[in-house]
Amino acid sequence: MQYKEFKDGIKLSRLGMGNMRLPIVDGDYAQIDYEKAKKIVDCCIDSGINYYDTAYIYHGGQSECFLGKALSRYPRDSYYVADKFNMMANPDFKAQFAEQLERLQMDVIDFYLLHGTDDASLQSTLDSGCIAYFDEMKKQGKIRYFGFSYHGSPALLPQMLNAYPWDFVQIQLNYYDWYFGDAKPLYEMLAEANIPVLVMEPVHGGLLANLTDEAAKPLKELAPDKSLASWAMRWVIDLDNVHVVLSGMSETAQVEDNLSTFDEALPLSSEDHTRILEAAQKQHAAVAVACTSCRYCCPDCPMGLDIPFLIKSYNDAKIGGTWRLGSLMAIEKEQWPSACIGCGECMAHCPQSFDIPEIMSEMTEMMKTME
Ligand code: SF4
Ligand code: SF4
Repeated sequence: MQYKEFKDGIKLSRLGMGNMRLPIVDGDYAQIDYEKAKKIVDCCIDSGINYYDTAYIYHGGQSECFLGKALSRYPRDSYYVADKFNMMANPDFKAQFAEQLERLQMDVIDFYLLHGTDDASLQSTLDSGCIAYFDEMKKQGKIRYFGFSYHGSPALLPQMLNAYPWDFVQIQLNYYDWYFGDAKPLYEMLAEANIPVLVMEPVHGGLLANLTDEAAKPLKELAPDKSLASWAMRWVIDLDNVHVVLSGMSETAQVEDNLSTFDEALPLSSEDHTRILEAAQKQHAAVAVACTSCRYCCPDCPMGLDIPFLIKSYNDAKIGGTWRLGSLMAIEKEQWPSACIGCGECMAHCPQSFDIPEIMSEMTEMMKTME
């Protein structure tokens, strides 16, 4: 296992175990299969993984209870626990924090995060008073390091960064989002501010482990025996300011594949980077609306919609899940896809001939499922 010095002499394993996709019983997300899940934790501990990530909402609250029990069989100084405050689940941050300590059966949470801060929730998070409270918990020694996980835009990240001297920030980072999403500017802003980065979704929720045959080809030709997920992992750990890469492991086979990647620790060559970019481009062409942001469609839209921005959100949602449309809640309703009147003015100007009204209509339906 590779380790990286975090702060204060603490060395974190570069692979961390996420506890949001543990094995379950009878397809019930709230019922963790303790025996199978414990084996995964044991395998991680035996392999030198010392970072274990959970959250208030994972497995309907059962992930914290499970993790506390599973880790209680090991010395408290042999691992670090990360847990997260979820404002949506319960805005009473004092009560939630007390409940979390109880569920974990611990006095101290090593890494504590504000969960899933995005453009829509950022201001209410800042106004809630939770940051001052968790800072107080840190002063009292109940939290060792305080950070946040971020799903928002690069434009609003500085507001969060200016609000507190954060110890770390967790972002969604993988080669696909680097080329086609916001990962690059987010990472660079954090590196510039000298804030350690922890990574979630290194394989983009499984997308990069299941590339189309065409997209997988450049990687498989180069290394037929390596898994597609291992390419994604190697790409992430190649970045200097990345400390821990989380993987939600639900089977021991997944743990083993990850371990072989992290044990080998092979840096990527320039040829590797070229192949990865090729794979990303092919995957993008296969799954997303390849809008070039030329904005030719915008001036004649009677509703004044920011069409390329909406198409970018559409791509994010198609690739990463409908929940990613949540970022649209931060803009005026008059700017939502539902404001489209289907006039077709935009299509007359789109060099790519996209059916924009159809995309707006599909987005409107997707957003309804979120209400
Ligand atoms: S179809 Fe919708 S997006 Fe296109 S110009 Fe008309 S209102 Fe705007
Ligand atoms: S004209 Fe077409 S390619 Fe250009 S921004 Fe609009 S939708 Fe995208």
